[in-house]
Amino acid sequence: MNLILFGPPGAGKGTQAKRLQETHGIVQLSTGDMLRAEVDSGSELGLRAKEIMETGQLVPDDMIIAMISSRIDQEDCKDGFILDGFPRTKPQAESLDSMLTEKGLDIDHVIEIKVDDDAMIKRIAGRFSCAVCGAGYHDEFQKPEKDGICNQCGGTEFTRRADDNAEAVTARLQAYHDQTSPIFSYYKEKGLMEKVDGMAKIDAVTEQMNALLG
Ligand code: AMP
Repeated sequence: MNLILFGPPGAGKGTQAKRLQETHGIVQLSTGDMLRAEVDSGSELGLRAKEIMETGQLVPDDMIIAMISSRIDQEDCKDGFILDGFPRTKPQAESLDSMLTEKGLDIDHVIEIKVDDDAMIKRIAGRFSCAVCGAGYHDEFQKPEKDGICNQCGGTEFTRRADDNAEAVTARLQAYHDQTSPIFSYYKEKGLMEKVDGMAKIDAVTEQMNALLG
């Protein structure tokens, strides 16, 4: 099963994708995570992407498309994948279609996580993650059970994303509405578009997703 998750920054795509990865045995492919890994490694792609990402703009389509195409070819994607943060523009959606056709693959579900923009700014401003295992937390909504210690791995180092500041978040939301939302009609025409209420509690959103996926 291959699916696409849509939602503005902070909607919970990553959180839900990680849960689906565990329950459905399909791999989360987050273009944001892949780009951050490139930035950390100091690769040429990472150097080109760093500044663009920090200002909340979108990285050029050709860079993203090549990156995701080679990732889908890897062995761990053979039982299915969850696209988290891709496609983000109409050319990316069209390239995805032709790329999948060439590989003999299809998209089975496209799910939009619907949320309010104002709530997203609050959610993003407080989020941080474990520097060791990547578990996600929030200053207000999801603190570690023991202050300063990761629930999952016991790590004591935490990080915040460079683009989780008010200015970059505003640009990211703008990019979502201007460049990503227009793709919905593309998937509606294909009869694939579904949605869940992303303002519900995390578990309730997962339940809605599972109901759609069967
Ligand atoms: P995310 O982790 O999905 O919020 O992505 C973080 C940043 O990475 C975005 O604000 C963009 O700068 C860049 N990015 C991630 N995915 C894409 C994509 N599909 N197209 C263009 N830029 C992307």
